[in-house]
Amino acid sequence: MAFPCNAPRRLRRTAEIRNLVSETRLTPDAFVYPMFVCPGEGVRKEVRSMPGVFNLSVDEAVKEAQEAHSLGVRSVILFGLPDKKDLVATGAWAEDGIVQQAARAMKREVPELILMGDVCLCEYMSHGHCGIVKSNPMPKSLGAAVRDTMTPAQRIATVRGKSKEEKEKAIKAAAERMAKAVMASFEIDNDSSLELLARTSVSLAKAGIDVIAPSDMMDGRVAAIRRALDEAGLINTPILSYAAKFASGYYGPFREAADSAPQFGDRRSYQMDGANVREAMREIEADIEEGADMIMVKPALPYLDVIAAARARFDLPLAAYQVSGEYAMIEAAAQNGWIERERVMMESLVSIRRAGASIILTYYAKEAAKLLA
Ligand SMILES: [Zn+2]
Repeated sequence: MAFPCNAPRRLRRTAEIRNLVSETRLTPDAFVYPMFVCPGEGVRKEVRSMPGVFNLSVDEAVKEAQEAHSLGVRSVILFGLPDKKDLVATGAWAEDGIVQQAARAMKREVPELILMGDVCLCEYMSHGHCGIVKSNPMPKSLGAAVRDTMTPAQRIATVRGKSKEEKEKAIKAAAERMAKAVMASFEIDNDSSLELLARTSVSLAKAGIDVIAPSDMMDGRVAAIRRALDEAGLINTPILSYAAKFASGYYGPFREAADSAPQFGDRRSYQMDGANVREAMREIEADIEEGADMIMVKPALPYLDVIAAARARFDLPLAAYQVSGEYAMIEAAAQNGWIERERVMMESLVSIRRAGASIILTYYAKEAAKLLA
């Protein structure tokens, strides 16, 4: 029907009518509040690039969880900052690991709160990668390796460059080639990493974590975790898998928050390429076949089409993670007075919900819950 019969503005006149016909509703119980737990007591250290987000010691984390719960947020997801890191991520699976301590305290103080545990190794590894690093050792000295990456002409330029600049340039180029060679020589060992992820999951569930959320992107990890949980008698612990996790520049501020930046290389060999939506569907399908109870797409805003595609194709509860960079961009623009903070915050959350996510992991959980009350 054409105008004047079809006049959608009739239903936009007042806030009440707009609410009545709203297709997408946000409720605080859809939010999961991410929290970073660190050692110590009385610690409340703000993350520089994420104003309003803190590294919290266990006692402070309990208070924060209580506050979130009182606002109607029913779930938190815990990340840990261990006091020591090593090459087998001991802090991730130790009985007295930082997240295990927090989980026990929260279960005691806020028993109704759903505790999710992020399962990954990067925060606990001295090199910051999500799995065990198997380096292919350099077969020769560093100098020999550098020389081998150069053509004879380049080699000559390094030692006998005509000018100082030429020499500098040749040396710089050689250093870059060397860095590339070193990066190409490391590899994440998928299968031995699975053993540690499974061990971590069992340890977290035993400490009181209700939902295991593997974020590492190793192949076969959901099956390995499911098997380990079942063998430990934890048959009722569900798995929320970070099924489609893209290698993203939006994770920058998180790496400061969780102190988990890789010390060399990047995560593109195990996280997904942002260009691929069909591959994302295959990743999700594989995780469902392996036993995932819920699935997640991460990040959220730059991947709304992936959320929508996943919603159309799969029937499991679907979560999306509004990541640190999404949060930091809104905060930074708002601090400059360039956008209306609350408005953009709610609009971004509605868009994630509208795309099809029923569960939203967001640093705005508490604040959005306040606005929805
Ligand atoms: Zn990781």
